[in-house]
Amino acid sequence: MLDPGHNGGNGSHPAEINRQVPAGRGQTKPCNTTGTATNAGYPEHAFTFDVAQRVGKALTYKGIRVVYTRQDDTGVGPCVDRRAAIGNEAAAAAVVSIHADGSEAAGANGFHVAYSSPPLNAAQGEPSTRLARTLRDTMRESGFGPANYIGANGLSARADLAGLNLSTRPAALVECGNMRNAAEAARMTSAAGRQQYAAAIAAAIEAYLAA
Ligand SMILES: [Zn+2]
Repeated sequence: MLDPGHNGGNGSHPAEINRQVPAGRGQTKPCNTTGTATNAGYPEHAFTFDVAQRVGKALTYKGIRVVYTRQDDTGVGPCVDRRAAIGNEAAAAAVVSIHADGSEAAGANGFHVAYSSPPLNAAQGEPSTRLARTLRDTMRESGFGPANYIGANGLSARADLAGLNLSTRPAALVECGNMRNAAEAARMTSAAGRQQYAAAIAAAIEAYLAA
């Protein structure tokens, strides 16, 4: 399952997006958020949707069945708990959420891969950490640098991400880079750059499923 973060209609539907939904570990969170953008205004939701489509195309070409949490970039949501349910109901062999970060910290750059920790079920144990490590390794081998401002060596253990907490399937979330960093923003804004992110993510999913 591919889960492109956010959605193009979120910004104009604050009431729907801000309502609280279950986030796992007894917490609640807003249904969804608008996401970040480059300084020039290229939005995260457009980036994640395009990258997910490119990843899906590559996987489909390899004979891997792909399910998406959203079919276009003009809708609202789905809420984070619903996104997790889509992967659970599909009995997805791997769930990958695709995002980009928006850190204002000076010089902040690089990708990181989040996974649920401590795990809440068996799928969040070894399968999810192996999926996260495979994504991290393949991103690095593809020439992307690990984040210099969050996590460690491109990995980030998280207890606060609803989609990961609520998943009963192997799941990880890729923050492809920092949209507020000029070099990464340029890469994300170009179709060729998005294809590079997508190729790395697709290769990682293929490697994870083959192991
Ligand atoms: Zn995001």
